[in-house]
Amino acid sequence: MRILDRSVYVGPSLYAHFPVIRLELDLGDLEAWSTGRLGSGFVDALAEALPGLAEHGCSYREPGGFFRRMREDEGTWLGHVLEHVAIELQNIAGEEVTFGKTRSAGITDLRHGTITKGGHEHVALPSGMKCYALAATLGARRSLLNERLIGDGLVPLDSALGRHGKAPHTLHFPKDRQWIGYGMGHLELLNRPEVYSQLHTWMQDPG
Ligand SMILES: [Zn+2]
Repeated sequence: MRILDRSVYVGPSLYAHFPVIRLELDLGDLEAWSTGRLGSGFVDALAEALPGLAEHGCSYREPGGFFRRMREDEGTWLGHVLEHVAIELQNIAGEEVTFGKTRSAGITDLRHGTITKGGHEHVALPSGMKCYALAATLGARRSLLNERLIGDGLVPLDSALGRHGKAPHTLHFPKDRQWIGYGMGHLELLNRPEVYSQLHTWMQDPG
């Protein structure tokens, strides 16, 4: 993890009405390693090194909340851990600091994906094989707003299904080979039972 930028705001700023320190981080390879994936060895060692973290409520607003965030589901990302460590170190130094916020600096990994050398050609689906698309949307059911604007918070549904306003950019997945998972983010496509059941159905498709 690298600190790319550090600013100290001594008065009101975009981030708070009181003095704050702002760090911009590059998690590097650790982007793929949430605390859930790092496992309890990491969390236990952190708890031992900084016992005061046990008092941090984080989003649960009660002691133990931050440890709960680190341990449950996929856990939390290391920028958020750094935030709590920074707060705790200031507490140990005698400052009464409780405020902290961690925000994504935007999608970095997906920004420059190309599948051809030039990166600007339109690539159609491969011919001679069946192509399928699974897409996720956080919306609980079909609605224009959910699909157009929200998608799964990263990708609008049309884009996930290869649809584009300009015909040459569109990937033509047949209707019966498209599936939409409602109420889920795209990473959840990896472990939702209904996705596997759809894959199973498709695999039995003789056409
Ligand atoms: Zn927190």
